[in-house]
Amino acid sequence: MITIKKFGGTSVGSIERIEKVADRIVADIKKGQKPVVVASAMSGETNRLVRLAHEIDPLNRGPGYDMLLASGEQVSIALLSIALEKRGVTATPLLAHQLGIQTDSIYSKARIQSVDGEKLKALVNQNTVPIVAGFQGVTDDFKITTLGRGGSDTTAVALAASIGADACEIYTDVPAVFTADPRLVKRAREIPVLCYEEMMEMASLGSKVLHFRCVELAVKFNVKLHVRSTFEEREGTWIVPEGESMENPVVSSVTHDASTVVLKIFPTPSGTGFKSQLFSTLAERGIVVDIITQSHNEEGQRLAFSVSEEDALLAKKIVDEMVGSSARVDIMKDMAKISTIGVGMRNHPGVAARFFQVLDAIRVPIHLVTTSEIKISAVIDKKNLEKAAEGLHREFHLDDDV
Ligand code: ADP
Ligand code: ASP
Ligand code: MG
Repeated sequence: MITIKKFGGTSVGSIERIEKVADRIVADIKKGQKPVVVASAMSGETNRLVRLAHEIDPLNRGPGYDMLLASGEQVSIALLSIALEKRGVTATPLLAHQLGIQTDSIYSKARIQSVDGEKLKALVNQNTVPIVAGFQGVTDDFKITTLGRGGSDTTAVALAASIGADACEIYTDVPAVFTADPRLVKRAREIPVLCYEEMMEMASLGSKVLHFRCVELAVKFNVKLHVRSTFEEREGTWIVPEGESMENPVVSSVTHDASTVVLKIFPTPSGTGFKSQLFSTLAERGIVVDIITQSHNEEGQRLAFSVSEEDALLAKKIVDEMVGSSARVDIMKDMAKISTIGVGMRNHPGVAARFFQVLDAIRVPIHLVTTSEIKISAVIDKKNLEKAAEGLHREFHLDDDV
């Protein structure tokens, strides 16, 4: 049975850990598995590379930027291959272009278009363990691209889809997906089974545990995900289609995104077309705009929207160029987004009321808010994040003592 195993940055963060991962792979081979391994860069390495690029130009998102960021994975897959060879296992380290992981050419946020699954299967059948660099791809004209921060998860699911594997294991530094980030909410509980839709909301609302596109691909190709610990030998969280998940609590998780930035324009330039032009220019430059709100007073209209921290400088530059001196553009940096998510919200009225009551009671002002059938999200000051997350977690009976 071919199993895809993805190891994150912390899991390969030192030579000692790489050796441990190699031991684990060897043990799985002895149990009869045929592993295909995907690895991220050693922890901290991609951040270091980003900082180097930013020292020269914080706005560059071109071929050089992606080539630089992709280099971290080359080191970790090479080290892991050496560790396996030392244990008598034949390993084949592979960069994206060697495995035909084709992407579009949107640098730093590229999307995988195809993977050469036949090549992967052929390697496995030759009894070598493919060790694939996560996070990277190659364009039709052989430029190196990257898939967005956290993108190695997506590489793993794309490989699983390309060979028709029905499950993909994501090994990480937490034992499971929790009801909230266990680093923020101490009373967070492990979730044994979660449905795709909830995981997709969690990932898109900022939960770092899985890359958003990996869940999207898993749904499309029906790949079940198993998020589990690199350091402990036990099952973690299974992410499966809705009918197969066991419980549907009203709220299944509280998710946060601490890298939210809000841009405010006041007064919004009048005249038709300003907003459509603004948001299409931002989209053309690859900037994902999250929550948008507008309000009026006698002096004019205020437009506010949120983007991720990594896009904030470029978004500000675009807005400044478009409004010139006709309006004030403010950038609010110390923001965070907090969300409650649950498919059970569809059938339970009153969740929004409880959400606002909790934040009111602990005096947390809300800057922007948005809701859907299965989530409520609010942008708040980062300094209030922990108490807001803990308050909401308790209100929706997610604490581990209830
Ligand atoms: P990796 O390097 O293995 O890909 P990441 O740092 O990308 O690991 O993702 C794992 C981290 O996700 C955890 O250390 C944890 O702090 C964070 N996280 C955020 N939300 C959750 C959650 N709901 N459950 C578990 N972990 C979460
Ligand atoms: N190394 C990349 C990052 O740090 C990809 C990943 O870890 O998934 O974002
Ligand atoms: Mg990750």
